[in-house]
Amino acid sequence: MTVLGCGTSSGVPMIGCDCAVCRSTDPRDTRLRPSIVVDVPGHATILVDTTPDLRQQALTHDIRRVDAILFTHGHADHILGLDEIRRYNHMQGGPIPCHADGQTWDTIRHVFSYAFDGIERLGGGVPKVQAHTIDGPFAVNGVRVVPVPLWHGRMPMLGFRFGSFAYLTDCNRLADEAWALLAGVETLVLDALRDRPHTTHFTVDEAVAVIARIGAPRNYLTHMTHDLGYAATNARLPPGVELAYDGLVVDAQVDID
Ligand SMILES: [Zn+2]
Ligand SMILES: [Zn+2]
Ligand SMILES: [Zn+2]
Repeated sequence: MTVLGCGTSSGVPMIGCDCAVCRSTDPRDTRLRPSIVVDVPGHATILVDTTPDLRQQALTHDIRRVDAILFTHGHADHILGLDEIRRYNHMQGGPIPCHADGQTWDTIRHVFSYAFDGIERLGGGVPKVQAHTIDGPFAVNGVRVVPVPLWHGRMPMLGFRFGSFAYLTDCNRLADEAWALLAGVETLVLDALRDRPHTTHFTVDEAVAVIARIGAPRNYLTHMTHDLGYAATNARLPPGVELAYDGLVVDAQVDID
């Protein structure tokens, strides 16, 4: 699993900000919009969300193939790069299977109406998507994926578990049924926006409390604002909890059908 971006919706540095984190020379303080890629050799390369930074993320990490895309929810920082998959459509010669819940599909079809209206266009192509609606666990080329229901303020959305690894971005509460679905997870990536409370994201302290309850030995925080400098924040986190950074690679065991 590679973290392609661990920044909040504005990214870090933020446009026009002169704070210490936005001006930091530590590369771990530069955060693109939130996404991961799960590469299961011999099976599938699975992208989670298509951020506005997808092109840059794909070039930086030389992502040559995308076998499937999973969407966590329909917010702009998680979907606006969908048009970039045209390059993968071309290289792979077809549409890309994309998995999202019904509400997220409604948003994607609205925002990217040009990709779904069936109108033949001259010139530039449109992203070609093979839409799958998530209604329970599924598999991508044999790689098992368990959707984990989360709350993002009043909006329901999905995290994803792949075997021993789970990715839970953009949430401030786990749904009651999520806890059992996360039993035995060994590596967890969890939303932690900043220290000040927020209506739709965990704070660092709230995330640390959730991490303690889930009990995974390895935990990484994501979706951070410029409030959280990498070095200073990491120094005060409990053992087993670290900030993610763009380019972080973590090995994990997935379940294969
Ligand atoms: Zn700043
Ligand atoms: Zn969101
Ligand atoms: Zn977000």
